[in-house]
Parts: sequence; structure tokens; C-alpha cells
Amino acid sequence: MKISEQIGASRDSLPFEIDGMVVKLNDLAMQRALGTTSKSPRWAIAYKFKAERAYTPLLSVEFQVGRTGAVTPVANLAPVRLAGTTVKRATLHNFDEVARLDLHFGDTVGVEKGGEIIPKITDVKKELRPVGAQPVAAPSNCPVCGEPLAHIDGEVILRCENMHCAAQVQCLFEHFVSREAMNIENLGPALIASLIATGKIKRIPDLYRLTIEDLESQERMAKKSAKNVYDAIAASKERSLENLLHGLGIRFVGRTSARNLAKHFRTLEKIRTATVEDLQNVTDVGERIGKSVYDFFHTERYTQEIDELIELGCPTEFKGVVKTLFQGQTAVITGTLPSMEREEARKLIEENGGKVSGSVSKKTSWVLAGEAAGSKLTKANELGIPVHDEAWLLAQIAAADSGDISGDEGAGDTNDSGETPAASLASDSSDKQKAAGDTPTADANGQLSLF
Ligand SMILES: [Zn+2]
Repeated sequence: MKISEQIGASRDSLPFEIDGMVVKLNDLAMQRALGTTSKSPRWAIAYKFKAERAYTPLLSVEFQVGRTGAVTPVANLAPVRLAGTTVKRATLHNFDEVARLDLHFGDTVGVEKGGEIIPKITDVKKELRPVGAQPVAAPSNCPVCGEPLAHIDGEVILRCENMHCAAQVQCLFEHFVSREAMNIENLGPALIASLIATGKIKRIPDLYRLTIEDLESQERMAKKSAKNVYDAIAASKERSLENLLHGLGIRFVGRTSARNLAKHFRTLEKIRTATVEDLQNVTDVGERIGKSVYDFFHTERYTQEIDELIELGCPTEFKGVVKTLFQGQTAVITGTLPSMEREEARKLIEENGGKVSGSVSKKTSWVLAGEAAGSKLTKANELGIPVHDEAWLLAQIAAADSGDISGDEGAGDTNDSGETPAASLASDSSDKQKAAGDTPTADANGQLSLF
């Protein structure tokens, strides 16, 4: 406890940023004695420091329009030092949050850098509010195109639904060319803005119709760079289906769900013609994403665009290799395995297309049992479900891998939000890399609270 307080106190003098610490037992024998729970080891524990907070006056509030038309209030603050950086802007998330804070212009607000890089406003010092201060109200019209904003049922978000809104078009193109999507290098925000302003691109298919002359005619565009952009656009046709799916900016579809959809259906044609139920059955694609994808492919404006993109040679097939060894099978793991943790076994099964469930039922395909397996093994025997050991699992995988099935490069997908927050919010860009811990995480904000 004492050490954690000392480290916490020296946070600012460290050459990197920390938001917590991990306490581990060094003694391997003791580690083994303590073992692990289903989620985390019992011999390591993480502490999270209380987030630093600073108070500063709110100067103004800006309304940003994102790729899906969502309007996000962003606070401009009098610059203040916080956790090693100067903070000038902070997100207000949405207008419910503004109402909760009862935010007024000129208020002195508390700002914190939590787990995210973007600082957020936590509270308002009402006693410091200037006399006659006006409350911050939600705009009724889009700050970019002037169209009335819609408040969609069940969402706290205000949205501009004008599909020609310049803010949305710009964001959509920026997203489409991004690395995780179509990866069109050199086509940066300034060039996109210029191409939109000169009427060269209005919709995504327009990108693939650009000529070298179109590009050269843009301001500050050298011949050589025009050729580079042109080639990069052409090269993006070689991407895989999930990149296109991700790039289309379908609401709620991030790169993980795009990948899962592409992997599952393999072709764009199958995704377009899938039923809502088919879509919702894909791994990690729930009701909300499934419905959104279905709606997208059944909206005339988008089906038209998709037809054009296909004609222009955009990727329509999934190019990754999927391991299908255990596809359609549900396994249950029980007992202590000789050489690996249950968690490792779970990963192996999932990597090879199988599912792992926590309890044995008639739907269980097989049980992977180790030493001291208890009630699950009994139940499996009762139900006549095949029981295998670790050696069997490894042999199956080895046999499959020695065939022509190669590795899947899709590891490491994590974030899957439909919309990326404005990167410009990241204060003065001196944000340091946060060290990713190897310990269990959860949310907590209290002083040195456990998570
Ligand atoms: Zn608009």
C-alpha cells in the first residue's frame, strides 16, 4: 500500500505516463499455489490511481458533426496542465451529459483524463458561475449544413440526417481511405476536402472514377503525387471484403464486426442477400449490428453505390484464410489440463472455429477434460457426450495445420465502435503511449481502488 502511494506521488516525474500499477508475487511456487480464477490469476493484482483532475474556465462549446451525422458537443477550455499535457479541449459526449452537468457558458469545470486519451468534463463549480451566465443548449440545426437535427428514439444522440452534409461526406471519405479500411495512402483530409469542394467526389464510387488530370488539377498537387494517389486508389481494389465493409461506414460496424461478417459470408453478394436473422447469427454481431447491416443493404441509395463499387472492381470476396477445424462445434473444458491453462485451450478451440461454453448440455459437441474434472464430466457421461483430453486436442490441431490451412492474421482486434472520436481532441498531442497491462481490467475510479 505504502509503495503504491509512493509511486502514485511520483507519477508526474516519471518519463512516461501511468494510470496504475500491478502487484505480483515473484515466488513461482506461491503463484502455483494460488492458481487462477476463471478470469485472472490470484497472484497478481492491479491498482488504478485516482484520475487527476484540474479546474479551468469553459470558453466556448463547439458542435462537431461526425461520419454518421452524430453531433458531439466539444468544450473549448482555458489551457490547463493535466497529467503531463496541456488540455484545451474536452469532450462532452452528448447533450444528456450537458444537461446532467447543467453546463453554462463561463462555468469553471473539472476536467479529467480517464482511461481514454480524450479528456472529459466531470463536474461544474456552480458557486463560481458568473451572474447572468447562459446555459449551453443543444443546437436545433446542423452547425455545418443548417438542416434541422433529428433526435432519434432510444438514442441520446442528435443527428444530422442530411446525406449531402459536407461534414459527413468529408468524414466518410476520411474513414473510407483509412488504414483499416481501404488503406489509400496519400489521400489525406486536405486533398479530400479539395476534391469535395471542386465537385470531383460526392459519393464513394466517385473516388474510383478520378482521373490523374482530376488529381493534378487540385491545388498544391504535384504531378508525381497525383500519380501516387491515383495508383493507391487503384491498388485498394486488391483489399479484402472486410476492408470495404468497414470502409462503407455502416452504422455500428467497426473493423471486428466487418471482419466477422466477411469471414462468415465470404462474399459481398451473400451479405447483401442475407436475412436479418442470418446476419444476427454471426459471431459478435448482435441484434443491433445485424439490423443496421440489413437496413444498409436495403436502402436504395446504398444498393446503388454498392452496385457501382462492384462494377468499378472493389473487393467483393474475403481473402483471409479461416480455420474451420471445429466449426459448428461447441466444446466444454473442465478439470486441470496437463500442459496449458483452460484459457489457452479455449483460445485454441476458438481460433479453430469452435465455440466454448461453460456448461454441458445436449448441444455440447465434446468435452475437453483434464485432471480432477467434476460434475461437468459426470454430466457429459450421462448425456453420452464424447470426452477428449488435451493430447487429442493438440493432435487434431496439428493434423489440421499440417494440411493446407494456414494461419489467420486477424488476431488483436479489439475496439469496435462504429464511430471514431475526433482525434483532434487529443489535447496538445504530446500524449504518451499508455503501457498496456497484462492483468485483468475493469472500471474503477476511486482512489487506489481494485479493478
Ligand atoms: Zn449537416
